[in-house]
Amino acid sequence: MKKMVWGMLWAMTAFGATPAEWSRPFQAHRVVGNVYYVGTSDLACFLIVTPQGNILINTGLADSVPLIRKSISDLGFRLEDVRWLLTTQAHYDHVAAMAEIKRLTGARILASEADAVLLEDGGKSDFHFGAAEYNYAPVDLDDHIKDGQKLKLGGVEITAYLHAGHTKGSMSYGLTVREGGRDYRVLIANMGTINEGVKLLGEKNYPKIAEDYARTFERQKALVCDVFLSSHASQYGLHKKYAPGAAYDPQRFVDPEGYRRAVEGAESNYRKQLAQERAGKP
Ligand SMILES: [Zn+2]
Repeated sequence: MKKMVWGMLWAMTAFGATPAEWSRPFQAHRVVGNVYYVGTSDLACFLIVTPQGNILINTGLADSVPLIRKSISDLGFRLEDVRWLLTTQAHYDHVAAMAEIKRLTGARILASEADAVLLEDGGKSDFHFGAAEYNYAPVDLDDHIKDGQKLKLGGVEITAYLHAGHTKGSMSYGLTVREGGRDYRVLIANMGTINEGVKLLGEKNYPKIAEDYARTFERQKALVCDVFLSSHASQYGLHKKYAPGAAYDPQRFVDPEGYRRAVEGAESNYRKQLAQERAGKP
């Protein structure tokens, strides 16, 4: 069922219209400690606040900037204080506003080596979504992030994990947040979902895609988190966990089981597709 919904979303996208929930505004809210949600109804963008400037992970669509600006200001912060821009995956629904936000803030853009290639050519070299309708304004990278690298800003330490497959350089980010006398292991996970039409075998622009997905699932199963967040709000069940206006309560986002199920679900879809492709089914 989930796969069907995603298939429909992508079919809509292929006809030139993005799903309404990608553009619909959503209540900005505090997730836990210095981690805040500033995305649209489905395109998750996270603001991590530090005394030395803030980190924005994902930027939504090209026209998401006013929504993100409003979300950041509703929380009492300023878009201009974003110092680093990161992404979980260099597809247009997460990075198309990077160029404009960089222009407005002067933030440094950091990405994995493989996703940096996409960001620098505006998505043109994407192994699957290279067509013009999926392109976005290119940006210059300020630095590359390596797998396992610890990114430190203003006393905050974020560990970057290369979770390739969805794009060649997809990344997840983990950090520990101290709040109310306890530590929360927060994970912004890029799920190993497979876009409609992507082939796991014989993909000439990404020959090791199946291996990359397999490695990502192994590594994601070995990662433990308390607070589960992801690139799309729907992937971590934001709308079930939080209703606009609800009081701050980091407990509502504690969901290690949901994380495990999301990884297992993506892996099981991957295995099914791989078996079908091996059997020569279309
Ligand atoms: Zn994507």
